[in-house]
Amino acid sequence: MTNPSAVLDLAKSGSFVDRHIGSRRQTEIDTMLQAVGYSSVDALVNTAVPDDIKQPTPLTLRPALSEVEVLAELRRLASLNKTAVQLIGQGYYDTVTPAVIRRNILEAPAWYTAYTPYQPEISQGRLEALLNFQTMVQDLVGLPIANASLLDEGTAVVEAVLLMRRANKAKEAADGKTVLDADLLPQTIALVKGRAEALGFEVEVADLSAGLPEGAINGIVLQQPGVSGKVFDHAPVIAAAKERGAMVTVAADLLSLTLITPPGEQGADIAVGSAQRFGVPLFFGGPHAAYMAVRKGLERSLPGRLVGVSKDDAGTPAYRLALQTREQHIRREKATSNICTAQALLAIVASMYGVFHGPDGLKAIASQVHAHAARFDAALRAAGVQTANTEFFDTVTVIVPGRAAEILAAAEEAGYNLRAIDADTLGVSFDETTTPETVAAVASFFGADASAVETSGAEYPLALSRNTDFMTHPVFNTHRSETQMLRYIRRLSDRDLALDRTMIPLGSCTMKLNATAEMEAISWPEFASIHPFAPDSQTAGWRELIDGLEADLAEITGYDQVSIQPNAGSQGELAGLLAIRGYHHSRGDVQRDICLIPASAHGTNAASAVLAGMKVVVVATAPDGTIDHEDLKAKIEAHRDAIAAIMITYPSTHGVYDADVRYICDAVHEAGGQVYIDGANLNALVGLAQPGKFGGDVSHLNLHKTFCIPHGGGGPGVGPVAARAHLAPFMPGNAADPANGAGGAPISASRFGSAGVLPISWAYIRLMGGDGLTEATKSALLAANYVAKRLDEHFPVLYTGEGGLVAHECILDLRQLTADTGVTAEDVAKRLIDFGFHAPTLAFPVAGTLMVEPTESEDLGELDRFIDAMIVIRGEIEQVRNGDFSVEDSPLRHAPHTASAVVTSEWDRSYSREQAAFPARPDHSGHAHGQDKYFPPVGRIDGASGDRNLVCSCPPIEAFEN
Ligand SMILES: *Cc1c(COP(=O)(O)O)cnc(C)c1O
Repeated sequence: MTNPSAVLDLAKSGSFVDRHIGSRRQTEIDTMLQAVGYSSVDALVNTAVPDDIKQPTPLTLRPALSEVEVLAELRRLASLNKTAVQLIGQGYYDTVTPAVIRRNILEAPAWYTAYTPYQPEISQGRLEALLNFQTMVQDLVGLPIANASLLDEGTAVVEAVLLMRRANKAKEAADGKTVLDADLLPQTIALVKGRAEALGFEVEVADLSAGLPEGAINGIVLQQPGVSGKVFDHAPVIAAAKERGAMVTVAADLLSLTLITPPGEQGADIAVGSAQRFGVPLFFGGPHAAYMAVRKGLERSLPGRLVGVSKDDAGTPAYRLALQTREQHIRREKATSNICTAQALLAIVASMYGVFHGPDGLKAIASQVHAHAARFDAALRAAGVQTANTEFFDTVTVIVPGRAAEILAAAEEAGYNLRAIDADTLGVSFDETTTPETVAAVASFFGADASAVETSGAEYPLALSRNTDFMTHPVFNTHRSETQMLRYIRRLSDRDLALDRTMIPLGSCTMKLNATAEMEAISWPEFASIHPFAPDSQTAGWRELIDGLEADLAEITGYDQVSIQPNAGSQGELAGLLAIRGYHHSRGDVQRDICLIPASAHGTNAASAVLAGMKVVVVATAPDGTIDHEDLKAKIEAHRDAIAAIMITYPSTHGVYDADVRYICDAVHEAGGQVYIDGANLNALVGLAQPGKFGGDVSHLNLHKTFCIPHGGGGPGVGPVAARAHLAPFMPGNAADPANGAGGAPISASRFGSAGVLPISWAYIRLMGGDGLTEATKSALLAANYVAKRLDEHFPVLYTGEGGLVAHECILDLRQLTADTGVTAEDVAKRLIDFGFHAPTLAFPVAGTLMVEPTESEDLGELDRFIDAMIVIRGEIEQVRNGDFSVEDSPLRHAPHTASAVVTSEWDRSYSREQAAFPARPDHSGHAHGQDKYFPPVGRIDGASGDRNLVCSCPPIEAFEN
């Protein structure tokens, strides 16, 4: 590079804002404005956003940077982090992400920009990968049903504890305490205690290897291996627990289970844990896929998502989310879990790691890890250093009276991070990346010589050796060469529609651009290879990035304090509600336990309120979609002294700026309640209005919506909680190190939650700057109003606000059309697939409707392509009305059409093959359908039949051969 400044100038030409926003040309903007009937974007925005919430001054963020500058700044931050050999363990282990998986999944937009597979016909690839994950987990833990991921190990244990509390019906045990083994991960214990406090059940921590404590016990939780490294034969304590009517959860390390007897074979009801060490980077604590598996009989109370096998309309086996209506958060206040977004992308990475290595490869890795630990232990013992356990897998606890700090420091100085337990004790955990040199170096810090020892290599109890097969399905035993692996990954992603192929106009989900420059830094080792419990001196870059992001989010939302710890929107809700609860309790208002929630709210709202120990009182919706004032008044009067909070979404889930939000906030405040504003719809507010200034006490945001973290096929997410100063003391605490965090209950196992994906949102904000972010919001409003105006005559827009305008999304009402013709919103959603589109949000928040959110990132051409498709579909609905074909025999009901459905030699339908497969223009020629036609791999899937006959593991290959 001879002239760096010239390079920079080049990169600046055409700002990032112009690339993030899809329709930036004046001609495009004018076309849209004309359709909407406004002379300028500002005029439209001024009318749509109520005056009394408008932000008086522009956002004051740091000036926008170019992509080149942002990457340079990220390099600077990365260089402030210090990588080390990570031997801390405690639930997090270094691992090798196979390059073919890193580049073609973790860094591949076809995977990371996909949405949650609610539309199974366009999601067969990721559903297969998730089914592989479930099968792998089931096999490893020895239980028949596993879900498709949970948020992290600590919260997975919480979910297991709650599952035991509702599933255990044994008279003598149901209301008993929950007992945690003392050898659980400390962050797990802290999380369970925090959540139990809110829900009011007793938790006892005890050394269960010494037997069960007295008293009634609802359930126990064990860890395999324990945090001390000890491998337990849990069979006796499990049997004793069952004898007393208690249920049993084992938090288990998947890699160790390739060698030792799985919890299912020892009688556990539930197994949970993390799949992180299956190829998912440390990421400074997350995102990582947690898992949960249960015995038969518990599948219908399993939290999280569950992939199952069903059939399509041609009888072909097809995957879809099973028991979808059972997905807990959808059940609102009857829900037992609030999990919505989980960790799909990371579960897919872990499952592909299983496909890549197969059972033999995994066993070889585990054996090698164990051999390193065994050699280390033997060397220490030979040198007269005491170690705590004779039976271990990968972790050795070393007892060095009074010398722990000094050894820790020497190791750190040399680039090795050990686990500090107390003044006399250190932990050393080995992993897939460990080399003999590492073992030798670490042994030397303890004055031992690892080269001098022989080991038998099996220091866990031999009686516990695993003697059952696992991962015998061909998928784990076929793709051995990289060519095969690459093609398998590609084959699956080709089955799916993600943002790299089409707009995904999902209302409430904000499927906007996830720019490549924003994604770049996440797999840099200086970010990705940092252990969450690494000493602060090694994480200055991470913490500067996180502090900066939290400060930016505080400025954007108008709140005083932000915590990025919650790793999904649902978890942000819980954190915010727990902060409200903590605040009321600190003032002696312990009776305030009612949460008012509008009928239209997202299901997670009610579920989170229940999990925060609150009672939900539903507030009715008025005919115009706003909150019913009379009902609100009545509910406030009825519960005045018991109101803890109201949870409102703003703009509402109806996609409209309610003009009376301040009135509602005032009314609740006046009654002594707090106002929770669900900020998942912040894409309609950034730069225009601040929830922290127009009445909110606390909000969560979804960085995986508004701030460009991709959806990953259903996760990861980040759901920061933002609060005013009076709630700051009750923000999420630090589970692993309570002294080093805020005063509230911890929400995630690691202090910074899904830290690993924060560079994405950080980069987005830095690239856009305050003005760019505000431009994005305005563009999102313009696009949504353009779509609404153009489609309104074909599909009436259900709710509008001031000036007949919507906010950032609009609800298309199909109910009258359905009543008249039988064509359903689902038919329209499926028919859009034939045009190569992902469906809008179906049946939320109003049954029988579609909710469209175009976002600012789509260009006018793509918006028009969508609108045109909808208009063609509307014409087909007319054809049904006119009797050209019956609804049963219409292209709508038969949608989506697979290639094999349209190339059969027999064609007996009342519409043409061209109309079936190439419907884009009335003459069935049209746009992008010659060369770029997307054919779904399966036709319409019958979800109900799969639910009746639940299959949640990889089906035998023969099932697909006919
Ligand atoms: C997406 C969403 C949530 C839940 O967020 P998750 O990250 O999926 O848990 C909550 N409220 C609203 C309004 C949402 O759109």
